[in-house]
Amino acid sequence: QDDVFKKLVSHCKEYGFVFQSSEIYDGLSAVYDYGQMGVELKNNIKKYWWDSMVLLHENVVGIDSAIFMHPTIWKASGHVDAFNDPLIDNKDSKKRYRADVLIEDHLAKYDEKIGKEVQKAAKRFGDQFDEAMFRETNPRVQENLQKRDEIHARFAKALNDNNLEDLRQIILDCEIVCPISGTRNWTEVRQFNLMFSTEMGSTADGAMKVYLRPETAQGIFVNFLNVQKTGRMKIPFGIAQIGKAFRNEIVARQFIFRMREFEQMEMQFFVAPGEELQWFEHWKQFRMKWHQALGFGAEKYRFHDHDKLAHYANAATDVEFEMPFGFKEVEGIHSRTDFDLSQHEKYSGKKIQYFDPEQGKSYVPYVVETSIGVDRMFLSILAGSYHEEILERGEIRVLLKLPPTLAPVKLAILPLVKKDGLAEKAREIMDDLKFSFACQYDEKDSIGKRYRRQDAIGTPFCATIDHQTLEDNTVTIRYRDTMEQERVSIDSLQQTISEKTDM
Ligand code: ATP
Repeated sequence: QDDVFKKLVSHCKEYGFVFQSSEIYDGLSAVYDYGQMGVELKNNIKKYWWDSMVLLHENVVGIDSAIFMHPTIWKASGHVDAFNDPLIDNKDSKKRYRADVLIEDHLAKYDEKIGKEVQKAAKRFGDQFDEAMFRETNPRVQENLQKRDEIHARFAKALNDNNLEDLRQIILDCEIVCPISGTRNWTEVRQFNLMFSTEMGSTADGAMKVYLRPETAQGIFVNFLNVQKTGRMKIPFGIAQIGKAFRNEIVARQFIFRMREFEQMEMQFFVAPGEELQWFEHWKQFRMKWHQALGFGAEKYRFHDHDKLAHYANAATDVEFEMPFGFKEVEGIHSRTDFDLSQHEKYSGKKIQYFDPEQGKSYVPYVVETSIGVDRMFLSILAGSYHEEILERGEIRVLLKLPPTLAPVKLAILPLVKKDGLAEKAREIMDDLKFSFACQYDEKDSIGKRYRRQDAIGTPFCATIDHQTLEDNTVTIRYRDTMEQERVSIDSLQQTISEKTDM
């Protein structure tokens, strides 16, 4: 699995999807740039989300709020005081860890140990192997399970009590049994705020400390009345936004899964108090269907309902996708009660209420939010699409089975040879079709090599122009997933490809 992930990362670089930021200066940790293919895929993901959330819902509208906002907003939202991660340093290695993630890594080690015992036994007993029975009776498995559960229970309690000393003690205990860092000299655990800040205005005028937003949601909350009034919106209604967010993540790893600068697609849905749980259920189902419509298979997704809720939430779930490194959150769906709007009422001193004509009274609306990271979605799509196939002569074909709607290039236009007027004919087709969908013209190298290049960037269709094309105005369409070929007329290309690549 590790191997698949490494291959995916290098594929992203090799084909212009994702580059390390500032690479020629040895990079900037947890910051990435999207290349010529990546930007197209990313734009298509954003459009796929925007169309389904905003265009298809008459009661959802979009906004684009600024990254800089009044600093009091982050006081009201709770981010200044509580948007923290627990942090611990190893004094010898000078390495910094997120305390909770380090403990999770230790828990994963126990799972790994148990998994190895099971695998070993499965090999030894072959067909006779009863895994459930083995887990229940094998002393080594039982011992590890017991230790794991013990640590897990202590960990849950420490998090719940926000007890930093207990977190540290768990790390010390775990590191004695099975060191991850290799050394045992640790600092205290302390809280570290994840917001980036900078100064606005010149210092002589008295500069103001402002934050780079750590989420796009607050831009929606503070514009609630603007949009509701000017758009004459009636509850229930939603406001959607796509934009950059910044978090000074301590553990920056797993490629674009956890970045310091990333993009979010969020929708805040405003409802009457008392109706929020019903809407929470509605959006939960809707969002899962949206993910599954991409066709990677329902088994790749699952909900992770939260038992422990933030103080302002009365329901929360994550949509998880099976990444090469396990099931991971790609989207959060939260019922946030009236917490955010009430806080902004309190801190701004302005009334933020809605007059409900049906109920004949004013109230602070309740909010159900759907929040998804563009970059994590991007990673899940690449992980779901990446395939290696062994062909007849032992050759390996690497392909991205991207959903056609999301593919950066929809149709590659390939003259079989450059001469005999084939290149000119291919250009003519390209000029005709490029206004309808993304096309790429390629005349370099053998046709086989060109097909492979298109497979690697996930182009669902290739049109090959050969000598017969000049006679009867037909081309060969080659399908990425099956490699099947079919002769079709040039006149039918525009409609056929449009139909197959539109959602
Ligand atoms: P995590 O627990 O992984 O840190 P979170 O629960 O803090 O995530 P939210 O605050 O709910 O995440 O943000 C909503 C979505 O934004 C996440 O589901 C994820 O897709 C995305 N996201 C959050 N942090 C990052 C990050 N550092 N890099 C990339 N995407 C992120």
